[in-house]
Amino acid sequence: EQSLHLIVRVSRLGARYVLLLGDDRTEAHRLEEVRRDFLANVSHELKTPIGAVGLLAEALESAADEPDSVRRFAARLSAEAERLAKITSEIIQLSRLQSGDALEKAELVDVDHLVRQSIDHHRVAADAKDIELVVGKRRHALVLGDPAMLSTALNNLVANAIQYSPEHSRVGIGVTLTDGVIEIAVTDQGVGIPAADRDRVFERFYRVDTARARNTGGTGLGLSIVKHVAQNHGGDVRLWSQPGNGSTFTIRLPEAVEASAVPTGATG
Ligand code: ADP
Repeated sequence: EQSLHLIVRVSRLGARYVLLLGDDRTEAHRLEEVRRDFLANVSHELKTPIGAVGLLAEALESAADEPDSVRRFAARLSAEAERLAKITSEIIQLSRLQSGDALEKAELVDVDHLVRQSIDHHRVAADAKDIELVVGKRRHALVLGDPAMLSTALNNLVANAIQYSPEHSRVGIGVTLTDGVIEIAVTDQGVGIPAADRDRVFERFYRVDTARARNTGGTGLGLSIVKHVAQNHGGDVRLWSQPGNGSTFTIRLPEAVEASAVPTGATG
């Protein structure tokens, strides 16, 4: 061990940063670095809404006898609080997914059911932009997995497709099953993603256009969660995109095998 680990506690957030000095860059060190970057990002991302909540609460206090200002500050306060709740819940989801015990509650999940649920969930948001949600042919396909996580992953893709699409366009969800591999593809006609960003969008907190994404309520964690959910289920996620012409995100998952082929006890 050539490197020196310097541990600095930041008492206010209870966060702990690990500084790595030296040039022995083994895998363990790299992981430690990733963890450190993540913590730094988390505190950075939380600082803005927490600061805003504090300021808005103060503004609210001093505007007590101006009803219009009170209403305005209160609306912004609740928007910031909502954003804070979203970031926090996504950070928790992500850390659960990375802890490895993610598939404790695996059960047989009907992919067609997941898709229909997701469509229902996003109907209002799609209607608001006059986006037509198009579902492909029904496919009988079963995945062994955590229904809530699979649902979250698909919902993140559909929410993004709607978010990054113009009004009056279409978002399609299609399911195919080939040689034991289930593909759930979400296609939009939106802004697309430049080639240089295509791998990076799956990184935590990465946004193609930071200012725009923040304004639209994006946290930069959605696709990272999708990637981890897919990987936890033995699958992956792929991206095809043409800037200006839209994107297709495809979650690929292994089809659940017949119960008779599964060792006893494994199906719960
Ligand atoms: P966010 O919360 O910012 O949407 P994501 O992890 O879901 O975070 O996505 C990361 C970035 O990838 C987004 O900020 C956006 O720039 C880009 N992106 C994601 N989905 C799409 C899409 N369907 N079309 C265009 N860009 C997208």
